[in-house]
Amino acid sequence: MKRIAVLTSGGDAPGMNAAIRAVVRTGLFLGAEVFGVRRGYAGLMEADMQQLGARDVGGIIQQGGTVLGSARSEEFKTPAGRAKALANLREFRIEGLVVIGGNGSQTGAYELHKMGFPVVGVASTIDNDLLGSDITIGVDTALNIALEAIDRLKVTAASHRRAFMVQVMGRNCGYLALVSGIAGGAEAIVIPEVPTNPSAIAKTLRDAYARGKANGIIVVAEGAYDADELVGYFKDHKESLGFELRATTLGHVQRGGAPGAFDRLLASRLGASATQHLCEGTSGVLVGMIKNQLATTPHEEIAGKTKLIDKDLMRLADVLAR
Ligand code: ATP
Repeated sequence: MKRIAVLTSGGDAPGMNAAIRAVVRTGLFLGAEVFGVRRGYAGLMEADMQQLGARDVGGIIQQGGTVLGSARSEEFKTPAGRAKALANLREFRIEGLVVIGGNGSQTGAYELHKMGFPVVGVASTIDNDLLGSDITIGVDTALNIALEAIDRLKVTAASHRRAFMVQVMGRNCGYLALVSGIAGGAEAIVIPEVPTNPSAIAKTLRDAYARGKANGIIVVAEGAYDADELVGYFKDHKESLGFELRATTLGHVQRGGAPGAFDRLLASRLGASATQHLCEGTSGVLVGMIKNQLATTPHEEIAGKTKLIDKDLMRLADVLAR
């Protein structure tokens, strides 16, 4: 393969830049020319791409976000949008594409593969909801940012006997909330996979205080519960509960961190491996990490599906919050 391209798509994740760098330098090492596509599939449909050399990806391994930019594109979900993208790839004589992104991005990659265009995916999303990789690029850094916030809130929560709700990202997947809740020692964890209600959450905190706990931290996944509704419930029942609830939404702060060592290494390995597979003629697979080994999984097996939450982790959270 003499000419390949790389794009980042969907939500940005710390480590995407390390993956771009790995794709460019591995491609060059294997004798290919490498093009960077700006703004994901949106840029692909507008032929917004340029050739990248080894020096163009220098000094980015330590940066969060993505130097290529990312986007969400509804048009690419249509056959007409994808036909436009394919025509641009052909015009630039690109022979293969590396797609760095999460669930939706890999579903888009599979669509291109089905149209006969060689594509290999790199597992990258802070949500960790992608099948085909036990852990994805950005998760570790996002978790550490959430933990730093939880640790700080615990200090102030204990000083004032105030409960704190920390809302973390993860769309409809509770992984980030569950794992940051376990690692941060939260009293309650609310995730979309386990339906609950405000009175049950309040009871969990009341019981925690009754057991002598100094603070009450609830970690809530963004897709699990409306934060305002939860805060409203606690406000309405402040007298009977005996404590107040304050809310902190981490939001995009969680995305923007500089990638830690784990994400830089993961991204470097996945990016290099994906490029190698692509240049050797493989298409329609996602490169991820399974049981600590590099692994390829056919896009057909993962497209449009979501990884289920680990029930053992849910049990662990319950036991350790006692
Ligand atoms: P993250 O979960 O980290 O935000 P993601 O890759 O899941 O990443 P999405 O917004 O779901 O983010 O998808 C990114 C883009 O992939 C979409 O904007 C769209 O252009 C493309 N895409 C998603 N689903 C499809 C699909 N079914 N067919 C074609 N393209 C798709």
